[in-house]
Amino acid sequence: MNIALIAHDQKKDNLIQFAIAYRHIFAQHELFATGTTGQRIHEETGLTITRFRSGPLGGDQQIGAMIANNEMDMVFFFRDPLTAQPHEPDVTALVRLCDLYHVPLATNMGTAEILLKGLEAGLVDWRLIQERRQ
Ligand code: PGA
Repeated sequence: MNIALIAHDQKKDNLIQFAIAYRHIFAQHELFATGTTGQRIHEETGLTITRFRSGPLGGDQQIGAMIANNEMDMVFFFRDPLTAQPHEPDVTALVRLCDLYHVPLATNMGTAEILLKGLEAGLVDWRLIQERRQ
């Protein structure tokens, strides 16, 4: 599966902890991330990650393009609800595309745990069937 990892600055430590805890699962998938998030997760876990531009410089939109092309199967997007983001329209657009294309999306640690356990249990395998139909 293709999995996107994105975290706003105040949430990056959260996502890194999550990636460390579930490294064994993430290691079985293709990982994509916005620039800084990807760099930090790679440094902390050694996971191989395809990095796009930093979020404020268009990284969210690059991941959005993959969603629109049916190339992204799951998104972990740890948003910071307390800090205004200069690229808020891009953030909204990414969430919208996940909804449009039925891509499982976690915006906080609580949902992320459930999503990853669902991934491990094969509950998201329907994504692969859908991709083969395209
Ligand atoms: P970053 O982007 O990983 O480059 O910090 C994340 C974001 O703010 O969307």
